[in-house]
Amino acid sequence: MNKRSIMPLAMKKRKFYCSCCGEKLIPYPKTRIVKRGDPDYKEHSYFGRGKHLIGDIEMTEYDFKCLSCEKLTSFDEQCVIEEIQKYVGVHTLSQDNINENYEKANATLKRKRKIRSIISKLFGTAVLILVIYYWIKSGDFSFKIYF
Ligand SMILES: [Zn+2]
Repeated sequence: MNKRSIMPLAMKKRKFYCSCCGEKLIPYPKTRIVKRGDPDYKEHSYFGRGKHLIGDIEMTEYDFKCLSCEKLTSFDEQCVIEEIQKYVGVHTLSQDNINENYEKANATLKRKRKIRSIISKLFGTAVLILVIYYWIKSGDFSFKIYF
């Protein structure tokens, strides 16, 4: 059986806190089998250039778990909670805190993601323009292929 494991970078790098008791959360693995023909098989079976897996894949993804109160939260959900914890200024939230701020926090997150993707696209374009600029400046319009 092929095994793959996906953990968001932020889960590895940042600290997240439980909205019930304020304890630090740990990544908690959940495993499922992705079979050939499943809608997300293609997405998980290819990686890198031309490399792909054959057969079923044992996928491990991660939720957050609180060791103190046993609460499980998905990564996406916890990102919204984190935003609300910033607004309120404490880690421990009441259900009212969550309900009142959920929409706003979700909108803020979407906006942040959009800005990040625009910046990375701009950066890509800037690099391309520089390459073209130096190519024209060099005055050598023959194509060279380097391997
Ligand atoms: Zn907890």
